[in-house]
Amino acid sequence: MTIRILPPEVASQIAAGEVVERPASVVKELLENGLDAGARTIVLDVDGAGKRAIEVADDGAGISADELSLAVSRHATSKLTQAQDLFKISSLGFRGEALASIGSVSRLTITSRQAAAITGARLRVEAGQAGPVEVVGAPVGTLARVEDLFFNVPARLKFLKSEATERRQTDELVTRYALAYPQVRFHLRQEGKTGLQTSGSGDRREVLAATYGLEVARQLLEVQSIYESLQVTGFISPIAMTRSNRREITFFVNGRWIQDPALVTALVQAYHTMLMVGRYPLAALFLEIPPELVDVNVHPAKAEVRFRERDSVFSGVKRAVRRALMAYTPVPELKSTPQWGGPEQADSGNRSVGWERSLAGEPVDGQADVLESQEHALLASPQAVLAQPRVPLLRLVGQIAAAYLVAEGPDGLYLVDQHAAHERVLFERFMRQKQGQIPSQALLEPVVVELPPASARLLGDQLATLERIGFRVEGFGLHTFILRSIPELFIGIDPAAALRVLVENFEEDETPLQAEIEAKTIAR
Ligand code: ADP
Ligand code: MG
Repeated sequence: MTIRILPPEVASQIAAGEVVERPASVVKELLENGLDAGARTIVLDVDGAGKRAIEVADDGAGISADELSLAVSRHATSKLTQAQDLFKISSLGFRGEALASIGSVSRLTITSRQAAAITGARLRVEAGQAGPVEVVGAPVGTLARVEDLFFNVPARLKFLKSEATERRQTDELVTRYALAYPQVRFHLRQEGKTGLQTSGSGDRREVLAATYGLEVARQLLEVQSIYESLQVTGFISPIAMTRSNRREITFFVNGRWIQDPALVTALVQAYHTMLMVGRYPLAALFLEIPPELVDVNVHPAKAEVRFRERDSVFSGVKRAVRRALMAYTPVPELKSTPQWGGPEQADSGNRSVGWERSLAGEPVDGQADVLESQEHALLASPQAVLAQPRVPLLRLVGQIAAAYLVAEGPDGLYLVDQHAAHERVLFERFMRQKQGQIPSQALLEPVVVELPPASARLLGDQLATLERIGFRVEGFGLHTFILRSIPELFIGIDPAAALRVLVENFEEDETPLQAEIEAKTIAR
């Protein structure tokens, strides 16, 4: 083989692969360009899960007609002039790659006008080939339209997930940016339906309400902390509000969305001992740090950064979260038992793993009955004794915060998570009811449930399945549902919470509920 320089189209397709992985990456780049251009309003229209068309319109500064061809060229940017600038970047873009990359794997049309210009200009790029710049009428700002994404790279198309998943990625992405930029008005439509709409009032709590619903937004705790050169603001969930995955944990660093597992760990550590094993908080945290202390040029998609003082950033996040939790969550019991409070005990959760597994794993014949009677016995008499094959004899000592039963056993102290035990009991009872004949009970007063856009979309797709297992749910407005009936078994449980838990679990599957739809849902 001889060594050759790659033809420019090949080189640019390779480069594009790093920037444009899926429809949501296109949305991200266009959105960031709008923000960099100082837009006050960004309107996004996505069709065919982003494969047919993505349109992003902003009212920012615009691009002049004579720079339009440059804008779609590789390594062409207005945001950086010399290498040193890389260490004091205040814009989201700087690599000058996004438009060129998008143009090389789609049919891209950019229409733009600067306020001082009388007319607008339009340029089309198809699979990397730019056409002539045309003069057109256009409002001030920029409209980027991306059609037939990956039409010339069919291999890429095959890597995309289901349409529902791709749509959800876009929903989640725009939601995150709306939270990070509350002063910008966002409007996202997918397949012609509004998914998210914010007012641009600058009030982050208002955006939270638009994304999670009023009820959740009200409960979120505000984080506000400045420590040395790190400022941490945003919102976190109180300890009682958790999720079964990390998906609703968002970090922005200097206005840039980044995915850093270490930051998530710092957050979770701040909650430690207050969360059940396998549960995660919901959080949107915005870090501001002098640009010279962060290297943003780590990855073409700019989803990672490198901190100059990594440890101090992580401990700063931990401290900020912990302070917010302590301010809002009085835990007097913990004060007298400092051995619970030290961050060094992070591994103490492991000891409860055995329990968790036997409570949440596969059903074991008869176990539910045993647990159930134990539960009743425990509640009936403080001296009750637990007897069960897997668990030694325990003597009940007491109860903490209506959440844990404290018991003494042969090898020490036992904490029984009452909530998990109860869940297990319900699960067993539900499993015993024959599939398809699950009795449903109409609620006296229908319950209104608000969900974030991505969850609402998932739930909307599964109404018929839910009905078969006893939940009658009707769509009502943007992200609102009316819950009319619940499975009889769930009487006495907060119906909205039950529904939320179901949806949350749908989210964990890429293709929720297909083969074993009902059985899986019942298990949930
Ligand atoms: P980068 O954002 O890294 O500079 P892009 O390829 O995304 O690279 O954009 C290239 C250039 O085109 C930008 O530097 C900017 O000058 C211009 N541009 C792109 N999108 C917009 C927009 N929505 N509004 C104004 N200018 C834009
Ligand atoms: Mg850009």
